[in-house]
Amino acid sequence: MDDAPLEQYAPHATLLGELPIRRLLPVRQRRLVGPWCFLDRYGPLTFAGGKPMDVAPHPHAGLQTVTWLLDGEVVHHDSLGGEGLIRPGALSLMTAGSGIAHAEESPGENSGKLNGVQLWVALPDAHRHTAAHYEHHAEMPQLELPGCRINLIAGEMAGQVSPAQAYSPILGASITVDRGREVELPLQGAFEHAVVLLTGDLSVEGQELARDTLYYAGTARRQIGMRSREGARVLLIGGAPFGETILMWWNFVARTPEEIAAVRLDWEEHRRFGDVKVYRGPRISAPELMHLRRS
Ligand code: MN
Repeated sequence: MDDAPLEQYAPHATLLGELPIRRLLPVRQRRLVGPWCFLDRYGPLTFAGGKPMDVAPHPHAGLQTVTWLLDGEVVHHDSLGGEGLIRPGALSLMTAGSGIAHAEESPGENSGKLNGVQLWVALPDAHRHTAAHYEHHAEMPQLELPGCRINLIAGEMAGQVSPAQAYSPILGASITVDRGREVELPLQGAFEHAVVLLTGDLSVEGQELARDTLYYAGTARRQIGMRSREGARVLLIGGAPFGETILMWWNFVARTPEEIAAVRLDWEEHRRFGDVKVYRGPRISAPELMHLRRS
């Protein structure tokens, strides 16, 4: 194997409401991995009361949101009446398309734990104005390969296909690497990929990974080798290089500043997006539109 080392991108610490998160995508120098355009990491944390996750109603357009948990629970409500109780192993996938609003909260009945990721997938131009819809998949396809178990979040691997609706070639996989094992995962050579160590320890082809950090593996790899001493939970994302220049602002993925201004105004003036009726409390107002430049 003469693959180059993985490119490491430092995460950016911020807050989602009061919940501390690490933002792994987008970061300077890396805006996309395939169609994946956003990756927030939260937890692991424990709590005795209250709601560590409490994101009031807010809009999305031009993307899909993916919520994936390792521990704990999150409840999703959207403006189409969609509802999902997300638990470890379940996939919450919201295709925002032309526009939808949602809220995500820790449910009142909970395990007192929270550990997960939220990702966004940019929709290609041909599909970004599609009608919004919500998918809740209670279980995802599972794969057993030597030394690891894989939950397939998006795309396909080793003959298994995720039921999650995809609009461009994509891969998302949650991998549990067993203690003391070495694993070799097959990759699609036409894809670019990135690896994130969520818990435990991991080395990829001899390179020790820092936790909650994006490691970009580039394109043209046919496989990736991983090894863990104590066991690890790992996120693998990828896809065909997106090939369209996107403009991402707040919760929207668009193409031009004019489009961003229009979708922002629609939210502020209560057009296009419905109400999340179940949520108790005010919705989130859009930030002021600062000077937006084409990326
Ligand atoms: Mn959201």
